[in-house]
Amino acid sequence: MISFAGGLPAPELFDVEGWRAAFDRALSRPGVLQYAPTEGDPALRALIADRETRRGLPTRADDLLITTGSQQALTLVATTLLGPGAVVAVEEPTYLAALQCFRMSGARVVPVPGDDQGILPEALEDVIDRHQPTLLYLVPTFANPTGRTLPATRRRALARLAETHSLWLVEDDPYGELRYRGTPVPPLAASGDRVISLGSLSKICAPGLRLGWLRAPATLLPSLAVTKQAADLHTSTVDQAAAATYLATTDLDAHIARLRTEYRTRRDAMIAALPAATPAGTTWMDPDGGMFIWLRLPGETDTSATLRTALREQVAFVPGAPFYATTPDPSTLRLSFTTNPPARITTGMHRLAAALSSSVPN
Ligand code: PMP
Repeated sequence: MISFAGGLPAPELFDVEGWRAAFDRALSRPGVLQYAPTEGDPALRALIADRETRRGLPTRADDLLITTGSQQALTLVATTLLGPGAVVAVEEPTYLAALQCFRMSGARVVPVPGDDQGILPEALEDVIDRHQPTLLYLVPTFANPTGRTLPATRRRALARLAETHSLWLVEDDPYGELRYRGTPVPPLAASGDRVISLGSLSKICAPGLRLGWLRAPATLLPSLAVTKQAADLHTSTVDQAAAATYLATTDLDAHIARLRTEYRTRRDAMIAALPAATPAGTTWMDPDGGMFIWLRLPGETDTSATLRTALREQVAFVPGAPFYATTPDPSTLRLSFTTNPPARITTGMHRLAAALSSSVPN
């Protein structure tokens, strides 16, 4: 089976030796097997604050809460700010597990209309007037599942609307550093004080670490920390100490540069294979970064039926429907290009071509 389904980093690019050394050194730290503060390891918070500051988002260690992956940060935000009757605005389609998280809190999820560049600020204004959402959830850079990036002007407009209407913006950014083309767009959080931003080591180091962080205004961070305390007291002390050691002793930027070079090649291999693999009339986004290519097949194709054919051909993808908050477009699907090396991508795309030619109506 060649899977283009999960958003998994390439396993052969994990820095196994670097992490082995970091865990080894971390275990010699006094207190590393003891309970620790909920907010996180002070050394790790300081190192992440430095990275965020260098990326153009001035951050102090005290602005951060270390979380068990950014998925936990989403749960903390939902538990702290939402409840039955609350409204969450989202771009559509959007990250499936965020939708699950918001729904579990009892909130109602309302999509904000947009275009190929993301949501439209004037459409958000309309949603605010009609539904009074508590927060707007966004993956503004190399979104999951679409790969699209929200332009700087729209980011500033959203930040202004958030200030005017006392709306929280949740900027979920696990992919921002995986850029293969173009220049970085300033983080949403750099434009205003109503932004909670979520970061993660999952895509730039390894998802098995389960290490992420949340950067929030001082008015909000203490209540998020109380929620985290109730959830798990704190993220693993050992893992945090290893990450602090790793960040202090390794050139993470050089590692990310290697990821970028390799993932760029993989994206290019998949994009190059798409015209021959898909029926006429298929459209897709060619992303500047991240992990995903989002496709729309022509006509009335139902990609969950196509998936059954694809699995018989030994290739997998994710049908697009579950990424929609409301009415799904069943002819969409998501391909992940990071997990497989280029030659396997090419083989997988031949299999996908076979599946599509036998299942898509002409
Ligand atoms: N947000 C988005 C947009 C994601 O794509 C993912 C992972 N697929 C997450 C959050 C969760 O990541 P983590 O491993 O940091 O919990």
